[in-house]
Amino acid sequence: MSKHDDYRLGTKAVHAGHTPDESSLSRAVPIYATSSFMFRDTEHAADLFALKEAGNIYSRLMNPTCDVLERRLAALDGGVGALTFASGMAAISAAVMTLAGAGENFISSRSLYGGTWTLFSQTLSKLGIEVRFFDVDRPEQIAELADDKTRFVYIESMGNPKNDVPDFRVVADAAHAAGVPLIVDNTVLTPAVLRPIEHGADMVVYSTTKYLGGHGVHVGGAIVDSGNFEWAADADRWPQFAKPDASYHGAVFTDVVGNKAFIVHIRTHILRDMGGCMSPFAAWTFLLGLETLHLRLPRHMENARILAGWLAEHPSVESVNHPSLPDHPFHAMARKYLHDAWGAIIGFDIKGGKDNCIKFINSVKLISHLANIGDAKTLVIHPASTTHQQLSDEDQLAAGVRPQYIRLSVGIEDIADLKADLDQALWEAYC
Ligand code: PLP
Repeated sequence: MSKHDDYRLGTKAVHAGHTPDESSLSRAVPIYATSSFMFRDTEHAADLFALKEAGNIYSRLMNPTCDVLERRLAALDGGVGALTFASGMAAISAAVMTLAGAGENFISSRSLYGGTWTLFSQTLSKLGIEVRFFDVDRPEQIAELADDKTRFVYIESMGNPKNDVPDFRVVADAAHAAGVPLIVDNTVLTPAVLRPIEHGADMVVYSTTKYLGGHGVHVGGAIVDSGNFEWAADADRWPQFAKPDASYHGAVFTDVVGNKAFIVHIRTHILRDMGGCMSPFAAWTFLLGLETLHLRLPRHMENARILAGWLAEHPSVESVNHPSLPDHPFHAMARKYLHDAWGAIIGFDIKGGKDNCIKFINSVKLISHLANIGDAKTLVIHPASTTHQQLSDEDQLAAGVRPQYIRLSVGIEDIADLKADLDQALWEAYC
């Protein structure tokens, strides 16, 4: 147990994972700008490579600045370990490729960020890994889709940009009944709103690019491992963790590192072989961002709640998608799992269709038109022509993306200024 484990979330966000080092006594986490680390002697070097001793070798595999971020993220989500990556997509790819190979399949929610959708439906199929989609509001489909080649179930904690909220416990139980772990992409909610491991998730993935950093300065990703999945209970299904590993002279990961088998396996295989690591400078900026996570999220969400109600009354707006609205299809589910939190992404349809969407986006002044979410600044995009452009019309609709749909990632600015900017742009669009 680390000395920070007993603290509450706001304290962990500021302190977890860092103890000032004895030599410098630096209060801030230093940026360890080094590609490699000295070995004390040849025996030390050999032991590190053989996983007999923990320590630093080379920054593709581990780095002390990234290590603090990994420990902090694991502490925030209640995991046994975490791993950082160059981007959210690198993290998702690493999790998927560690669990599934050619000839195997996985079951995913249909409501996904567009990049995850194309990874699952296009890129992985070229590697022989099949995705089977289910509807988030019909978790009973998981049992119908699963077979002995299924390797995991995947959901987003709040679909981007559909804003649907899964019944986490039911989905986790269905995954476990099929003998596989549940991966939750918690990018949109963050541990400040939802800790998926508490509701049965086995791994949590993040684009740290979004709310965890909150500054829009760096791209990054992470995986947090709950350590709860029992790989050794079915060694034939999980030979990568529970049978001898040829690339480590026959070591069995569940024997060597116990319930950290998944996260250590990714470090020692995917990072070793495919790279995709986070730079220490990026990790340092994410640590700075995390220090205010618990302060920013409530402000993001309160601004979003106010704007959702205001947009719903606006004469230029056809419909608004935000779970805070009592008639939202996932309002009850959000209440069940998120209590008084709703996320800060609003979707809305503008009257008059796609042409008016284009006019609206081209008219915003304070709000930034770009492809990102979770920045302190309010951001806007037209998903059908950008983030979800590669999907067919049918798949776009399944992901909640209609031609007249706008996605607003609500920032932490003054609400009056946001309303004023939205109002003038909506009137420009509708005139
Ligand atoms: N997951 C979600 C929910 C996202 O919104 C995104 C990016 O928008 C990603 C994953 C991918 O993250 P990154 O852009 O850091 O690769």
